[in-house]
Amino acid sequence: AKAAGKRQWCHYQPALQAGLVERHELNENLDTAIAESAFKLYYQPIVDLASGALVAFEALVRWPHDRRGMVLPDEFIALAEESGQIVPLGAWVLERAAQEAAAWHRLSAEPRLARGLPPLRVNVNVSARQFRDAGFVDVVRGAVRTSGITPDVLVLELTESVLMRRDERVHTDMRTLSELGVGIAIDDFGTGYSSLSYLREFPISILKIDKSFIDGLGLSQQQYALVEGITRIADTLGVQVIAEGIENTEQRDLLAAMGCPLGQGYLFAHPLTPDQARRLITDHSPI
Ligand code: C2E
Ligand code: CA
Ligand code: CA
Ligand code: CA
Repeated sequence: AKAAGKRQWCHYQPALQAGLVERHELNENLDTAIAESAFKLYYQPIVDLASGALVAFEALVRWPHDRRGMVLPDEFIALAEESGQIVPLGAWVLERAAQEAAAWHRLSAEPRLARGLPPLRVNVNVSARQFRDAGFVDVVRGAVRTSGITPDVLVLELTESVLMRRDERVHTDMRTLSELGVGIAIDDFGTGYSSLSYLREFPISILKIDKSFIDGLGLSQQQYALVEGITRIADTLGVQVIAEGIENTEQRDLLAAMGCPLGQGYLFAHPLTPDQARRLITDHSPI
C-alpha cells in the first residue's frame, strides 16, 4: 500500500508542481508589474442611447506580458484579490483613471459645455477586497484631489459581493463616499444575489444591467419585461441605468424604446487605448 501511495505521489507531483510554479510565477510577476506600474488601462465608451452622445468611459485594466501577450483581467484579478495585491493595483487604477479623466476635460470641457453636455465621467471597477481595505476611502479622496477632477466625475463600480456583507463599515464608507460626491454603481446587476433593495439601502446612483439580460432582449418577452421593469423602478428611485454588452442594433433600439438611458457594448466600441479614447473625444461626433 505504501509503495502504491508513493508511486501515486510520484505520478501526480509533476502536474501539481507545474500548477504551483505557474501560479507562483504569475504572483511574482504581478508584484513586479505593480511596482513598475506595468499595467495599461483601456477605456470603453458609455453612450446616451437616445442621442448617441458619449457620456463616460469605463476603465478596464490589461497587463502587457512578455510571453503571454496582453493578459485580460479575468486571468489575474481573482489572483490579485486572493493575495491582497488588488489593493495597490486598484489604487494605481483609480489614480490613473482620474488623471486620464482630467485630460479628457482639458480636451472637451468647453466644447461639451457649449453643446449642453456635462463633463465626461470615468467608471472604475472596485473589487470587494479593495473596498474592505481600511485605506480605500483615502485612496479615492487622494485620486480626486491629485487629478483635480470634481468628485462627481468619478463613478465606482461595485458588485453585490460588497453590498452583501451589510456590516456597519460598508454603510459608513458608502455614506462617506457619497457625501464626498463620487458616484456609486452596482455592476453586473441581475447576476448573483443582487436585489433591488440595495437601491434603498445604499446611496446608489447607477445600476448596470448585466450582459446576460441584454443578450436575451429580442428573444424572450420575459427577458424584455424584466429589463423594462428594472429600468422603471430604477428611474423612479432616481437611479441611472446602463445596459451592458449591447452587441446589435436590435438590442439598442429595444432599450432606447423602453427608456433605458445609457448603454455600453461592442456595438458602440470595444475598450479603447487612451489615444483612441482621446481621438474619439476630440471628434465630437456621436458613435
Ligand atoms: P466588467 O466590469 O463587467 O466589464 C465588462 C467586460 O465585458 C469587459 O471585459 C469588457 O471588455 C467586456 N465587454 C464590453 N462590452 C461587451 C460586449 O458587447 N460583448 C462582450 N462579449 N463583452 C463586452 P474585460 O475588460 O475583460 O474585464 C473583465 C472583468 O474584469 C470586468 O468585468 C471586471 O469585473 C474586471 N476588471 C476589469 N478591470 C478591472 C479593474 O481595474 N479592477 C477590478 N477590480 N476589476 C476589473
Ligand atoms: Ca464594470
Ligand atoms: Ca459589468
Ligand atoms: Ca462582469
